[in-house]
Amino acid sequence: MSAYVLAPGREKSLLHRHPWVFSGAIEKAKGEVGAGDTVDIVAADGRFLARAAASPASQIRARVWTFDPDQKVDAAFLDARLRAAIARRAPLFDASHNAARLVHAESDGLPGLIVDRYGDLLVVQVLSAGIEAWRGAIVESLLAITGAAAIFERSDAEVRSLENLPPRSGALNRSDASNPQAPGEATILEHGLTYRVDAATGQKTGFFLDQRENRQRIREFATGCEVLDCFCYTGGFALNALSAGASSVLAIDSSADAIRTAEENARANRLDLSRAHFLEADAFKHLRLLRDQGRSFDLIVLDPPKLAPTIRHVERAARAYKDINLLALKLLRRGGILATFSCSGGVGIELFQKIVAGAAVDARVDAQIVERLGPSSDHPVSLAFPEGDYLKGLLLRRMS
Ligand code: SAH
Repeated sequence: MSAYVLAPGREKSLLHRHPWVFSGAIEKAKGEVGAGDTVDIVAADGRFLARAAASPASQIRARVWTFDPDQKVDAAFLDARLRAAIARRAPLFDASHNAARLVHAESDGLPGLIVDRYGDLLVVQVLSAGIEAWRGAIVESLLAITGAAAIFERSDAEVRSLENLPPRSGALNRSDASNPQAPGEATILEHGLTYRVDAATGQKTGFFLDQRENRQRIREFATGCEVLDCFCYTGGFALNALSAGASSVLAIDSSADAIRTAEENARANRLDLSRAHFLEADAFKHLRLLRDQGRSFDLIVLDPPKLAPTIRHVERAARAYKDINLLALKLLRRGGILATFSCSGGVGIELFQKIVAGAAVDARVDAQIVERLGPSSDHPVSLAFPEGDYLKGLLLRRMS
């Protein structure tokens, strides 16, 4: 088998079971190494460290499949990893839920693979050369394990270019002729509410499953309240607030498609549309307008997109987070609740809390943390892979 030999002293992260090998840690390759090939990672003294998928074009030169020298990497190995990941999600499917993330990449031992289940539809995202090499076997296993009617691929994320992989998306198998929905379309059920998901045109894989528990969490604060849902996408938080009896909900997103779907979702769930206003607008600008109009709310949700795509963008992202949190805190009534999130991996919870605290000072508002929020349990974070810990949130109460 080919191998990457590490430079002296560069084995530490692998001994801590971190799954990435950076190009700078590698002294030389032994044998021919192609994209997606299985290689051994060995220390400078020749000791076996891990077996990994190579990605010769990427800064992340290899991603670990296993730390066990006796483990063969083949279709059966991948099938076992997939089965284990999917079995762990079984409790999440019940009479009011038919959607969950089945595979969460590195944290499920499958670096670069995302699989989301939306009812009978699976959506896969292939983000690494290793997964790309095994794509056929993985799709076959997924169909066999889940019995899903259709698989749709959304491998069009930016990060693929870092692996020298072209974007690719489309249906991977012929959709069931009796299924009237277009390929990539599904209706999901979450906390008893339905949402239309379009994996072909939607953001990411079509829905933000990582916020599932937090959408439920805000219900208890929404009854009888005036609610503002900023960055609402297809209405996740807004619908939960409406169904919990909010007196009004203003939901804002800059995507016209998202706003149209949010409104359709509210209608399909027979929620009272007279209490809801779905608005296509730039949230940064619209928050200012609401402030200038002297508006106020009892519950505000801020769930912006990733404002810091990489660590280099952290400073600018920090200013943007501060900006929207400052405005939201000003719009919040005394005793009101702000659920504020960041899904930027480069902004840790400590920094995020510091930014929000700074916003409160500038807004001349006292607030308390009622709860810290994170992703739902189908988005686990491997202890060895802190990079996977991207979604963090604070549930705050304005005191004065
Ligand atoms: N809360 C949503 C997920 C939000 S994802 C849920 O529960 O499903 C982030 C959203 O921010 C996306 O829908 C995107 O269209 C929107 N967005 C991005 N930039 C924006 C801007 N400047 N103003 C308003 N919305 C924006």
